[in-house]
Amino acid sequence: MVAIIVHGGAGTIKKEDRIPRVIEGVRDAVLAGWRELKRGSALDAVEEAVKALEDNPIFNAGTGSVLTLDGKVEMDAAIMRGKTLEAGAVAGIWGVRNPISVARKVMEKTDHVILSGEGAVKFARLMGFEEYDPRTDERLKQWEELKKKLLETGEVKHWKKLGELIKGYPEVLRSTVGAVAFDGDEVVAGTSTGGIFLKMFGRVGDTPIIGGGTYANEVAGASCTGLGEVAIKLALAKSATDFVRLGMNAQAASDAAISLATKYFGADTMGIIMVDSRGNIGFTKNTKHMSYAFIKDGMNEPQAGV
Ligand code: ASP
Repeated sequence: MVAIIVHGGAGTIKKEDRIPRVIEGVRDAVLAGWRELKRGSALDAVEEAVKALEDNPIFNAGTGSVLTLDGKVEMDAAIMRGKTLEAGAVAGIWGVRNPISVARKVMEKTDHVILSGEGAVKFARLMGFEEYDPRTDERLKQWEELKKKLLETGEVKHWKKLGELIKGYPEVLRSTVGAVAFDGDEVVAGTSTGGIFLKMFGRVGDTPIIGGGTYANEVAGASCTGLGEVAIKLALAKSATDFVRLGMNAQAASDAAISLATKYFGADTMGIIMVDSRGNIGFTKNTKHMSYAFIKDGMNEPQAGV
């Protein structure tokens, strides 16, 4: 039994006319992963699915990443192999097209788990990743508007109104991407993001934190999306796999993980996708939307939705 699921981020898609494009994006990505999975590797499947999402400017990862308070792109990504617990991640990286591929190189070519900032960029260049500007005109325009609004409130210093501001623009905040796949032998999970719009320079979210936003072991894998600070504090991706270890299937474990997020931090905070090592798929959110697509043995077509 082989299976793969991807997400394109949890939150509210305010402009509903974007939904068909989002669904097309997750469907294309899951099919890119599925092709690799059919060749036998969950690792390649997760990398290819996440790359397809990073390359699609509608999602907040790779090309189309949101901008920091000071107008830069600082991307996070992680990948983890469930069988060996090998993991690689980059935090606050810029100037590359596919952070997930750099994360894979960290896993395969270094003794470390996470490389950040300048060091991550330096490592990417050593590995042959070319200079690339992931900013899009649409994101720059959104950044100008958000920054102007933020300045008008006069609260930049204390950040008091930032929460309110974010509520007005939820669709630009959360559209991180992720993939989890099982190839019949191992589960692999990967996540990639531009983070949260107007995040402070240097802020690292849950995505590259092993156990926070991304985790895989021999029983299951999970990729989270939503407010990174919530997933970090609950070690949510790892907790979700613990639920599988205790006997739940991927769907029950996803539900339990999101209940935990709602209990401690309220609704409209998190979404998760999972695959367990029996090939079961799970996905849950406490936000209005979370785009997803999955396909497994026995299905002719992916199932996708928000
Ligand atoms: N979890 C991501 C972060 O906090 C954001 C998202 O899922 O959209 O960086």
